[in-house]
Formats: sequence, structure tokens, C-alpha cells
Amino acid sequence: MPDKALLQRLSDAVEAGFEEQVRFLADMVRHPSLRGREAPLQDHLARWFAARGYAVDRFSLADVALDQHEKASPMVEADPAASLQVVAARRCAEPSGRSLILQGHIDVVPEGPHEMWTHPPYAATIKEGWMYGRGAHDMKSGVSAMCFAMEAIRAAGYAPAADVYLQTVTEEESTGNGALATLLRGYRADACLIPEPTGGTITRAHTGTLWFRLRVRGVPVHVAVAQTGSNAIMSAYTLIQALYAHTAALNEAARSHPWYASVPDPIKFNPGIIRGGDWASSTPAWCEVDCRIGLLPGTDVAEARRGVEQAVAAAAKNDLFLSNNPPELLFHGFLADGYVLEPGSEAEAVLAEAHRAAFGAEMEPRITTAVNDTRFYGLYFGIPALCYGPRGEGAHAFDERTELAHLKTTTLAIAAFIADWCGLRPAA
Ligand SMILES: [Zn+2]
Repeated sequence: MPDKALLQRLSDAVEAGFEEQVRFLADMVRHPSLRGREAPLQDHLARWFAARGYAVDRFSLADVALDQHEKASPMVEADPAASLQVVAARRCAEPSGRSLILQGHIDVVPEGPHEMWTHPPYAATIKEGWMYGRGAHDMKSGVSAMCFAMEAIRAAGYAPAADVYLQTVTEEESTGNGALATLLRGYRADACLIPEPTGGTITRAHTGTLWFRLRVRGVPVHVAVAQTGSNAIMSAYTLIQALYAHTAALNEAARSHPWYASVPDPIKFNPGIIRGGDWASSTPAWCEVDCRIGLLPGTDVAEARRGVEQAVAAAAKNDLFLSNNPPELLFHGFLADGYVLEPGSEAEAVLAEAHRAAFGAEMEPRITTAVNDTRFYGLYFGIPALCYGPRGEGAHAFDERTELAHLKTTTLAIAAFIADWCGLRPAA
């Protein structure tokens, strides 16, 4: 653990830089970096890193052989060439410490109807110690923490005694291909920290995620003779109900899972987007439903996928129309494994000490029913991956917000973690 004097210097530096950190975060929030529209923010960040002496590598998903990796997920609706990743390296000439990747995603999910927001979603309004906006919490706050933890170390007169990579990625909310791309590009380190907004907890386990699109046909007729046609929207509704029943069965089985037994209904199913039909007085000829379902760590993605396929096929078989017009299933995004950060890693112990030093409290574990990017590092590349970050509210909801005081202390905790994991030396 960093000694008291060093911790105080880092704390002073975080404090002194915090106004600028809040401005930096607000700038990020003002970029509506929705899927496919992340490039301007990535360009902005690449310039920010370059101005601070980082070696910046900006590349797109088309620049790496994603399709040759078995854990890449399909990107049906996004252009890989437009999906930019940024890796900012602070390399150490003669490293004596352990190297580190700090990674955050800058893609955000759609904000929904603006009238449901108290403050406009991309205005980065600050009120009573909270910053509001889409992405302010998930996870641009964490990105600001990792960037300004490094700024604090520099301002305190030090440099990490090992290579540090600051990575801002896309696709976390849809495939995870951004994180995978940095690994395929060749970046490696002795540990990875992803400052998702965990409220100062360490993520012990996260679930996996599947995305799929249900496509159902119907027979369009005038509604006056509806009995001679078939309604695709109602057929989709039948399949959605079957998928809820499938989810209930999975949750029953989850009661004996080593990590999720104590979490009620950890498998979440969500029909998230629905489209269909062409006219209010015609039975709809088509319907599409974009869905998301979770899977527990230890469940094979292929097995989870088969489960969905079988549930849909069984429901279709019981329906007169669907049995003759089988629905299609398109897996169009996430094919993501769950992940457990097994207790006892050195990286976690160092982070726990840093958390204690900054917050004066123990770092508690959390078990989440959502996915994050740590799986790529931990499961496929043997790099211990920690998911730990600031506190906020309203991920994917309206009035999303981050608590600035907690963000400041988290920035100090991350600076202390870097100091201890990488070691520090006086800046040149
Ligand atoms: Zn996130």
C-alpha cells in the first residue's frame, strides 16, 4: 500500500485536478456516443491523450481479424470500419513494476423519450453534487477516473514504473468486440481494471448475454375477415410468452449455481425492440422482436443458444400457423460468456488495499446480472480483470447520474492502485 505521505500527495493532486476532471467528463457526456456514432468522441479522446504525451493508437474494428476469433460476436447493424478504438500507452523505459490496462467503454445506450428526463440527456447538468446525463454513470465517469488517476500521478511528480495502457472502447453495450479488438491488436498487461460504475464494489461475477431477433410472418387480410389471415404480432406475442417460461425454468435451475444461488431470478429476459405490421386494419404480415437473455457463468454460449432455439421451436410446433411457417431466429449481437473473478488474486488484493486507503472502508464484492468486458481478459487471455468503479444511478434509465464526491474518491483509489501495482518513480 502506498505510504501515507504518497497517498496524501495523490489525494491533493486528485483534488487539484478535479474541476478539470468534471469538465472532461461533461465534454464526454455532451457527445451522444450511441452505437455507430462514437467516432467524434474517440477522436476527441485521442487528441486529449496525444496532448498529454501518450502514444496513441486509434484503429477500427475492421483493422483486426475479429471474424477469426471464436469469441467475437456478430455485428449485424453496425459498421466495423466506423467503430473506432483508442489505446493510449504510457510506456516505461526500464519497467520494474507490473503493467496495467485501464479500460472503459464510451458507447452509450439510446436515451429514450427526452420528456422523461428531468435534465436533458446530453447536457451534463450538475445539481447538488451529481452530474446528469446518458453515460454520465455508465461509464464515462469511470473513464474520467482512470484518465485523471494517471493525471494525478503525473501532477504529484511521478510516473508508473511499468507500461500503462488507457483504452477507450466501443461495442460494450452490444457485442464486446471493442475490448476483444484491443487484445487482437496485441495489447497485453499483467492486470486489467475496468472502472464500470460498481459503487466501490468489486465485481465477483457477471452473467453472459445473448442477443437475438425473432422474425415471424403472418398472412395479411382485411381485418373484416381476420379469421382467414394470421396476425404476426400476436404470433410473436406467443413466442415471447414461451421465452418467459423458458427463462423461469432457467432461473429454477440457477438456484443451485455456486455464485448465483442467492440472487433471485438472475437470468433476465427482455424483449427490447418490436416492429411489425403495416396498417391498423390489416392483419400484420410480419413482426420482428429484438431480445436479450442472460446466461450464468459456466453455461456454454452454444448451450444457451440451443435453449432459446428449442423454446421457440417447441412453441411454434404448438401453434397451427407457426408450425407451418416456422419463425426465424437471428443472433445479431452479444454471444457473451459469464465470468467469475475467483477470489484470491494478487491484483484484487492490491485494489482492496487501495480502496481501503482511499475510502477507509472494505471493498465489498458484488454479483451482477449484467455483462461487462472483463470476460475477454479473464477468460480468454489469462489476464486478471477487475471491474470496480464509481457510484451512480440510472444505468440505461432516464435521469442517469453520477455522484461527483464518490467519483473523486474513486479516482484516488485508482491512482493508489496504479501506484502499488505498477510502482512509481520520480517523473523524468
Ligand atoms: Zn457499462
